[in-house]
Amino acid sequence: VATTERRWTNWAGTASCTPRAVHFPASEDEIAAIVKAAERVKVVGAGHSFSDIACTDGDLIRLDRYDKVLAVDRAARTVTAQAGITISRLNEELAVRGLAMQNLGDIAYQSLAGAIATATHGTGTRLGTISTQVRELTLVTADGSGLRCSPDADAELFRAAQVSLGALGVIASVTLACVDAFNLHATEGPGRLDEILSRIDELADSNDHFEFYWFPHTDRVLVKVNNRTDEPARPRSRPKEWFDEIFLANKVFGVLAKTGERRPSLIPRISRVVTGALSKTEYSDRSDRVFASPRLVRFAETEYEIPRSTVAGAVREVHAMIEREGFRVNFPIEVRFVAADDALLSPAHRRDSCYVAAHMSAGLGYEPYFRAFERIMDARDGRPHWGKIHFQTAATLRARYPEWDRFIAVRNRLDPERRFGNTYLQRVLGP
Ligand SMILES: Cc1cc2nc3c(=O)[nH]c(=O)nc-3n(C[C@H](O)[C@H](O)[C@H](O)COP(=O)(O)OP(=O)(O)OC[C@H]3O[C@@H](n4cnc5c(N)ncnc54)[C@H](O)[C@@H]3O)c2cc1C
Repeated sequence: VATTERRWTNWAGTASCTPRAVHFPASEDEIAAIVKAAERVKVVGAGHSFSDIACTDGDLIRLDRYDKVLAVDRAARTVTAQAGITISRLNEELAVRGLAMQNLGDIAYQSLAGAIATATHGTGTRLGTISTQVRELTLVTADGSGLRCSPDADAELFRAAQVSLGALGVIASVTLACVDAFNLHATEGPGRLDEILSRIDELADSNDHFEFYWFPHTDRVLVKVNNRTDEPARPRSRPKEWFDEIFLANKVFGVLAKTGERRPSLIPRISRVVTGALSKTEYSDRSDRVFASPRLVRFAETEYEIPRSTVAGAVREVHAMIEREGFRVNFPIEVRFVAADDALLSPAHRRDSCYVAAHMSAGLGYEPYFRAFERIMDARDGRPHWGKIHFQTAATLRARYPEWDRFIAVRNRLDPERRFGNTYLQRVLGP
């Protein structure tokens, strides 16, 4: 199936393109036929990357019809699924079988392959990105053939395919490691930035999942702590959930975003009022319902991985930079923790990591702020999240990845003609 409705825009409205044609294959053979016939081809997942990583003027593949669970091995705790399945559907399919994903990011709208391709992560010092949960995957490569990637078959290829940026081929199916279903006890509440930064290691190490949001122009943070529990689910009551998550988290940010866009000078004052109203919440629920929540307010985002030991200094410097430059920032800075891994292009490659994210209304002209933020991360050898906005090039990135050349060698072998290339990959990986 192909369509002539060709204009495509990402979730955030920060990237768009007009592909030559859009295809909806329902089998691996159909994917292979599209790849073979195309001069240039890209898959788009749920369009939740903020950059132009999924854009193409060639053929665009959507996997909305290639989204089924293929097998569940309850004893080995693995699930094999077609690459287009969304994380939220996968969560439901796992839950009915008594399984769950070990960790998740803060939304579940992404496609499985899209999340893997950019090393999507949650928070937890002992837990890696979603790419580290991959046990095996199959790729449809540039010549249309299927290639099984597993650590046993070819460790180097596997480590490249774990975080591929869509550059190696179409991920067709994925086998993921899961865990037994579990509940989380969640505590969310206000804190002060200085106090949190002075205790940051203790807080990160003593909780399964620790993160915080700091609100620029204030000294206020929202701390989120999730720990595994044997308690039964005691979810927030519907009205409370609606109030906390939909109204407070989304609507108040909506007001901040809209008012901020119209009157940026009011942002510091509104931020102080809004964060003064933060209050403590506690509840227990099924893990995926605690990890991920709806996002109703749209924004632009950049995010950097930096060595864990450098985070407190980095956040203090971002604070000083915002005040010095006079930026009016109407969204928080988010700080999370991720364990080291060995995927060739994982931002957490061989170092215990902290991820620091900056957000802003897309309409507010985020580029000067994101560039100033990036300079602070550059000074700490920061590695950008592949799915978020950044201004790096292959020349600035190569030295930050000890096994960069190995990834490029795999790319040269699998896609010598750059059939899976696009403007983003040309900039970020080189020609
Ligand atoms: C509101 C919001 C919240 C977010 N929260 C988090 C978070 O908590 N943690 C985090 O790490 N990230 C987060 N992200 C970023 C997001 O997880 C990543 O950008 C992810 O890649 C998006 O998945 P997607 O399915 O939308 O992929 P897309 O954005 O559609 O595509 C991303 C890349 O994957 C490639 N791709 C997709 N499918 C395939 C395939 N089958 N084969 C080969 N390549 C493929 C695309 O070509 C492209 O290169 C968030 C984004 C948003 C908008």
